[in-house]
Amino acid sequence: MQTAKRLELIPPYLFAEIARKIRAKREQGVDVISLGIGDPDQPTPNEIIDEAVRDLRDPNDPDRHRYGGDVPVPDFPQAVAEFYQSRFGVTLDPKTEVLTTIGSKDGIAHIPWAFIDPGDVALVPQPGYPVYNIGTLFAGGESHFMPLRAENNWLPDLSAIPADIAKRAKVMWLNYPNNPTAAVAPLEFFQEAVEFARQHDILICHDAPYAEIAYDGYRASSILQVEGAKEVAIEFNSLSKHFNMTGWRIGMAVGNAEALKALGLIKENVDSGVLRAIQFAGAKALRDFPDYGAEISAKIYKPRMDLIIGTLNKIGWNLQAPKATFYIWAPVPPGFDGSSAKFAEHLLEQAGVVVTPGRGYGEAGEGYFRVSLTYPENRLREAMERIEKALK
Ligand SMILES: *Cc1c(COP(=O)(O)O)cnc(C)c1O
Repeated sequence: MQTAKRLELIPPYLFAEIARKIRAKREQGVDVISLGIGDPDQPTPNEIIDEAVRDLRDPNDPDRHRYGGDVPVPDFPQAVAEFYQSRFGVTLDPKTEVLTTIGSKDGIAHIPWAFIDPGDVALVPQPGYPVYNIGTLFAGGESHFMPLRAENNWLPDLSAIPADIAKRAKVMWLNYPNNPTAAVAPLEFFQEAVEFARQHDILICHDAPYAEIAYDGYRASSILQVEGAKEVAIEFNSLSKHFNMTGWRIGMAVGNAEALKALGLIKENVDSGVLRAIQFAGAKALRDFPDYGAEISAKIYKPRMDLIIGTLNKIGWNLQAPKATFYIWAPVPPGFDGSSAKFAEHLLEQAGVVVTPGRGYGEAGEGYFRVSLTYPENRLREAMERIEKALK
């Protein structure tokens, strides 16, 4: 048996190495506290679960067991369009400008198949969600990494993209509010990106799963709020993060109809859609609980964030609380040669606490680490006590 060369394109997964070390620690009996993964600990709201169960049990929905792609629930794209209208003032045609996805990762991983031929370039932010790069590589393309740096507020410098690269580029990935840096983008940046995309005939893929996780009155923009953005951009969004629905696998791509049609054609040949009960539940979530993300941000994540920022600042950091996402992105302290892997290993060894080394998101993430707030407050508190002790 011989596996495809494609598999060799996958960069070594730093996180697999961390997982191995965590397992080893746990086997030694250490109570390891992970702050590594961005997957909400809170349950999906009951009303959303009830809506899924209602359809699963509904004898009046004879299609409830069928392929959700063949018998889609029109209410879901309709609810997405209503949500974009009221939340962002963006008008979408639910038939052509909304595409249901199996979580946004599905859309992100598959859109390169519709836009990237071998030799084509995708512009990919770094540090960043690994799927932008890997999806590009799988389709035979090349990633040109756009470094995100603190001095540029973690926005890519579009003027630094070489002309020959811009010429070969078919897709530009953006992600705000950003994972892992927790940075946000002003609408002016999106305007600049849309202008760039228009100049170079590039499709912008904006990944926005954290748009509803925000603090202190901050509200993230959709790139589709930029005038004319729909001509060159699509936006991936998801119910995963702000309705605590990561395992349900439902999301949406919205915006440019031609791009969505192309993605839909790929998907038709790869998957068979989302279970109808989940589509009903998704419509219910967007319609009846449009502010749920803002609520859990204030009630659940904000106190956790204050706890962590407060502790880290007390022991030598100088962090500002992020405006959005459930992540904290902080520099590796002195004494570790700027190595995020060394620092993460030190915390695991000395405190039994797992943070994500920035290097895992690409070279440009080196020197930083990420903490996720998706863990119960008592565990976060314990982790902070241990870190305080370990770094004294
Ligand atoms: C969590 C996450 C996703 C994937 O979310 P799903 O909708 O659950 O697939 C996509 N992009 C980023 C940046 C994420 O952090």
